[in-house]
Amino acid sequence: MKKTLLLLLLSISFACNNAYEERKPIDQPVTKPKSDKVETNNFGIVIHGGAGTILKENMTDSLETAYKAVLEEAVRAGHEILANGGTSIEAIQRSINIMEDSPLFNAGKGAVFTNQETNEMDAAIMDGETLKAGAVAGVTIVKNPINLAFQVMEYSPHVLLAGKGAEEFAKERGLELVEPSYFYTENRFKSLQEVKEAEKMKADSADNRTAFYDPYIKESKFGTVGCVALDKNGNIAAGTSTGGMTNKKWNRIGDVPIIGAGTYANNATCAVSGTGWGEYFMRGVVAYDISAMMEYKKMSLEEATKEVIQNKLTESGGEGGIIAIDRRGNIAMEFNSAGMYRAAMNKKGELTIGIYKENEETAEEK
Ligand code: ASP
Repeated sequence: MKKTLLLLLLSISFACNNAYEERKPIDQPVTKPKSDKVETNNFGIVIHGGAGTILKENMTDSLETAYKAVLEEAVRAGHEILANGGTSIEAIQRSINIMEDSPLFNAGKGAVFTNQETNEMDAAIMDGETLKAGAVAGVTIVKNPINLAFQVMEYSPHVLLAGKGAEEFAKERGLELVEPSYFYTENRFKSLQEVKEAEKMKADSADNRTAFYDPYIKESKFGTVGCVALDKNGNIAAGTSTGGMTNKKWNRIGDVPIIGAGTYANNATCAVSGTGWGEYFMRGVVAYDISAMMEYKKMSLEEATKEVIQNKLTESGGEGGIIAIDRRGNIAMEFNSAGMYRAAMNKKGELTIGIYKENEETAEEK
């Protein structure tokens, strides 16, 4: 009798351990990136501040100067961290924080408004060395959502937290919280009213989805920020932060916090941060697709980013762009929209800043 009881207890404890094993969160690399000999001490950083219909004729000189100043400040701050031996993850957070704190970009302070006149932010970060990732969706009181994504990656057993739960976690981790009104900016609020007006005019159209995705409306929604970096240890990483799309409804979540869609990093291939019409990036699994092209088709970074953005994304009807970097320090800034706010700095400290398509930019910005 005693023996049976002992056996029973033993098997229950075994079953419990197994169940625990099964439930144990996967926070370790799924596949270890293959070690690849790269030049050590090389480093570089690329940032974006959103892609969309950014045309010179719609831009004032002072606004252009203001955008370029923040882009330069952000890319220089990240570059300095890398030059001093900091990690790509540290550089990414710093650069993104600067853009999140600026009202010019659709992230943090300058986040766009939802249909309910609130601001709901998404962010993600991924480490190419370990394939660890952290992401948050629909947060409303966290000043710098990219920092919360980092906390999720490092201090939680999960990858993606959303809404109230994510905010609870932010409190526990002691992150800087703000009143929702911190995210109010007159420009973004005006954009929402314009989009709503346009939507109302379309309300008679038979299909509501057509109204939501009206080309006029969609143009006013971009402006996400992102950063990819290579540090002196040969590790790459990617981060993205956004307010999503103006007039979004029903707690819509975009591509940014979906690992593989708007954000992805893997030392074996590349680190990617995207911006654009998120639904297309999710369906095309854009960031991962670029990595997969390199991994399975042995494409270069340039070939893979061109193929995915200029061919696949464009053919699917999607609009936007990406920034990417590989372990050799090759970079890509590819977009199929009229413009993309972007900047890059290499090991030598050479700085590139761009807003419009190349041909407009060479005379202006090189
Ligand atoms: N990709 C973002 C989203 O769909 C928007 C953007 O990049 O501006 O949420």
